[in-house]
Amino acid sequence: MAKQVATRRLLTPTGGYLQGYDYTLNPFVGCAYGCKYCYVQALPVARLRSERWGTYADAKPVDAGSFLRELRRAKQRGGTRIFMSSSTDPYQPLEWRIGATRTLLTAMQSVPELLDFLFVQTRSPLVARDAEILAALRHRILVSVTLETDQEDVRRRFAPRAPTVRARVRAIEALRAHGIPVQVAIAPLLPCSTDFPRLVADLADFAAIDDWFIGDGSNGRRSRALGVEQWYLPHERAAWYHPAKARSFAELLAAQMPRDRIFLHQQGFLPPDMRLPFDERIDPQDA
Ligand code: SF4
Repeated sequence: MAKQVATRRLLTPTGGYLQGYDYTLNPFVGCAYGCKYCYVQALPVARLRSERWGTYADAKPVDAGSFLRELRRAKQRGGTRIFMSSSTDPYQPLEWRIGATRTLLTAMQSVPELLDFLFVQTRSPLVARDAEILAALRHRILVSVTLETDQEDVRRRFAPRAPTVRARVRAIEALRAHGIPVQVAIAPLLPCSTDFPRLVADLADFAAIDDWFIGDGSNGRRSRALGVEQWYLPHERAAWYHPAKARSFAELLAAQMPRDRIFLHQQGFLPPDMRLPFDERIDPQDA
């Protein structure tokens, strides 16, 4: 059952771990989508709970006035580059009812000059509900929608409770129709059809690709600890569970969309003015 979390502040200083951002903004604690591969489940924030990851999503108390005061103080202290969200999805099923994320966005829209940049990371079609607010902030935001594959059976195997491929595609289309800059986050890249690069190119302004190796922040150790490899079918494993796959997929995508709109690994999650396209950035495994 969802409950409210007692917390005073909503903006958490990144302390440098999320490069390019001053703060993270997590309107919820926990995540109802419970993706099998989610790295948050191994972090203290999840391990200190007795419930299994994916079985709870508690709302933080959100008050527009208090949040704006926080935002104003943050702006005065230096900057307000915000990543929403780092340890949950800001569009939980519960968000339909309580509108915590919507309240925060509405507050930001009311005083846009307080916001330097907002990266909205989600896999939920509910983000399209807020298209008008996001459109009003279009010059200060990037909405990144996770779409790891175009194959429903693969999605069900790796993230059975996450929204369907079709629902996410429709949401991206709705955001784009409002003129909102949208990125497809193919993160982690999962087995997909040969039509997927074309779909991504048609859908999005940008593409970010990540994998189980660099993308887990520990050279694949976290992915191995989660047992990721076992979720692949035997005929998929050699081709898809491989450190070179992300870059080779980027090359496929580059045949369909401009190369300078494709980003690999961490570059795909930096603020736009800081990131380097995939062929200007060589990662150790690709060197
Ligand atoms: S939606 Fe994101 S935060 Fe939630 S379980 Fe999946 S990967 Fe983790």
